[in-house]
Amino acid sequence: MYEGVIQHLIDELGRLPGVGPKGAQRIAFHLLAADPDDVRRLASALVEVTERVRFCKICGNVAEAEECRICSDTRRDPTVICVVEEPKDVAAVEKIREFRGRYHVLGGAINPLEGIGPDNLRIRELMARLAAGTVKELILATDPNTEGEATATYLALMVKPMGIAVTRLASGLPVGGDLEYADEITLGRAFEGRRAV
Ligand SMILES: [Zn+2]
Repeated sequence: MYEGVIQHLIDELGRLPGVGPKGAQRIAFHLLAADPDDVRRLASALVEVTERVRFCKICGNVAEAEECRICSDTRRDPTVICVVEEPKDVAAVEKIREFRGRYHVLGGAINPLEGIGPDNLRIRELMARLAAGTVKELILATDPNTEGEATATYLALMVKPMGIAVTRLASGLPVGGDLEYADEITLGRAFEGRRAV
């Protein structure tokens, strides 16, 4: 449709989640009209994030060192682990400022239709953490949809025989949605009202 480099940019932008062909075109032309310094800053942020961000070796959250900010914070309660699907869910729970424990990021949820089973998630790493014996409660904060529920059920079956309390966030979260879309008050209530499973 357009000359080489512009079309190339539109194609690359179009591969991003939530950006369709029209959106890609709009962003591309916005960048063409923008201050070159602003565009350079964006470009270097993109390069920086791929070069510097990695995943915490303990919990799987995004990190700039071997361990993320939360795992390396000794003030965080090591006896409670909140299990979430993605790093963005850690950010969602942190926003409510109520949870002072640690996290474990699975990297997704069980989804047989897409061929994602327990072995494709960071469940083995979670079991290794629990086997150390420090953790007293595991909070299952996977998304309130079919895959999230299936994952929570699977984890509860695995973990309960270890004598660890397993809780699930209270209902009230929008069913079928993503944890990150819950507002802070709803998520805060769901946390307070978590129940044993
Ligand atoms: Zn971590």
